[in-house]
Amino acid sequence: MALRFFNTYSREIEEVELRDPTARPVKMYTCGPTVYSRAHIGNFRAYIFEDLLQRHLELRDYKVHRVMNITDVEDKTIRGAREAGVPLQKFTEQFKDAFFVDAHTLRIKRADEYPAATDQRYIDRMIDMINALISKGLAYQADDKSVYFRINKFPDYGKLAHFDLTQLQSTGRVKHDEYDKEHIGDFALWKAWDEADGDVKWDSPWGPGRPGWHIECSAMSTALLGDQIDIHCGGVDNIFPHHEAEIAQSEGVTGKKFVRYWLHCAHLLVDGQKMAKSLGNFYTVPDVLAKGYTGRELRYALLRVHYRVPLNFTWQGMNEARESLARIDEWLARLRQLIGSVRRADRTPQRGMPTTDFEEALDDDLNISAALGFLFESIRETNRAMDQNEMDAASASAWLDWWQRINTVLDLEAETDVAIPHEVARLAEERENARHEKDWKRSDELRERISALGWGVRDTKAGPKLTRGTGSA
Ligand SMILES: [Zn+2]
Repeated sequence: MALRFFNTYSREIEEVELRDPTARPVKMYTCGPTVYSRAHIGNFRAYIFEDLLQRHLELRDYKVHRVMNITDVEDKTIRGAREAGVPLQKFTEQFKDAFFVDAHTLRIKRADEYPAATDQRYIDRMIDMINALISKGLAYQADDKSVYFRINKFPDYGKLAHFDLTQLQSTGRVKHDEYDKEHIGDFALWKAWDEADGDVKWDSPWGPGRPGWHIECSAMSTALLGDQIDIHCGGVDNIFPHHEAEIAQSEGVTGKKFVRYWLHCAHLLVDGQKMAKSLGNFYTVPDVLAKGYTGRELRYALLRVHYRVPLNFTWQGMNEARESLARIDEWLARLRQLIGSVRRADRTPQRGMPTTDFEEALDDDLNISAALGFLFESIRETNRAMDQNEMDAASASAWLDWWQRINTVLDLEAETDVAIPHEVARLAEERENARHEKDWKRSDELRERISALGWGVRDTKAGPKLTRGTGSA
């Protein structure tokens, strides 16, 4: 079966053609976290969907080049740094680290690149793109010194979100500065510096300021993947205005179609309600771990529902995830035991050899619920065959091979050892260097950062040892 995805742009299931005569990798861009607080499980639902998508493409023998940006400058990060009384970089750093640790806990495959918006290379590119838009009449500097995109000059504006511009007039969302703009829907490409920004500013042809959020993604995606991207993902709340703006900016500059397939993940609800701090139903990955669940269990709970269906997170659902994983674990143990105990010469009738149903379900717009349905049906059938001594070692090992293949997508096998997250290892290495230089203050700071990520570091004769949990003993 051909690969089929629902493209937000066409609002249709489309047959996806990603093979390229030059065999270049599939170019995938996924909007990453805004590092002003710890990402919540709703954010991670989208990242797990993207992980599933990448892994399935790889199962289907595509090479994937995935870029995920880190938004480390925009309104919320600036406000957060000001309130915490620390420089922006220091403020965002802790949430960047936490993001990588949580992603590791959830077994999300690392992207090939994680560009950060404050990297001067990308700031320069944003400025170049804004310049190009101004010279084409697609952008203008307003009286407030900020630069805006002129949406009336881009006829396709609104096509992704499927609404027309007149709707924008009726939203009634007028901010104090918006009468500087020609159209209420014109969005900021460059925000002029004001006092609230403190020392967060870059020089530009339009005066000091900082980029708008949307241009950050246009600049980083085209810088790393070129003018045209195969697959662009995000949560449904990114569709408008963020992705709509990305199209307008990127196509405005290059004149080429920016993205072939737009895929968006539906919301996560908690107990049937929108997650909100005020409702007390707002959870991060550590919140879930603190209740005694594992990252593997949370991965399963966030993975098992089709990405276009809202996922209702409940503690009951977490318990079901635990039970489902226990069934997989027992099944694998049984298969392995059978392979180890049965003599090769044994000939028993073979029942229900593995099929390609699992991956075909994923070909169909990543239908994970159907795919998992096939997995558990297979578990039931093979367990029955094993109960009745109707499975030989060869079929058991065929089933195990099958599991190993589909587990490259699921990544749900129990782990015997807790791997150390990359970010924690990096911080520990930095701390070692600080200790060698006898920079004890820096070393202590780094120990605190490691501990904030849920790890402890103990200095032994053989070097530093990292352990889960913050205890230093
Ligand atoms: Zn983005």
